[in-house]
Amino acid sequence: MASVIVFEDCESLGDCNRAFLQWAADNPKGFYLNRRARRSALLHAVGCKHVFLPEDGSNTTFAKVCAMSIELLIEWARENDVDDDECKDCFPVDT
Ligand SMILES: [Zn+2]
Repeated sequence: MASVIVFEDCESLGDCNRAFLQWAADNPKGFYLNRRARRSALLHAVGCKHVFLPEDGSNTTFAKVCAMSIELLIEWARENDVDDDECKDCFPVDT
């Protein structure tokens, strides 16, 4: 699906993070799944404080699935057999 961008399986995790952070900077109204485990992911809004804290593990080790709508991410999670949970810090989202 073209409108969902997945950052994972990168040769260099550092490059992955840079690509993700660049995407987040370019898409301040986007959303992303932080894939904590093979079948579990946490749904965040770009701008969540988790994204930009360098000491937060979520920014370094997990694959990110990015899109401009929550619906696309939930659909992706369903197709990939991943349980998604909403981050308590960024939901409900102000729109
Ligand atoms: Zn969050």
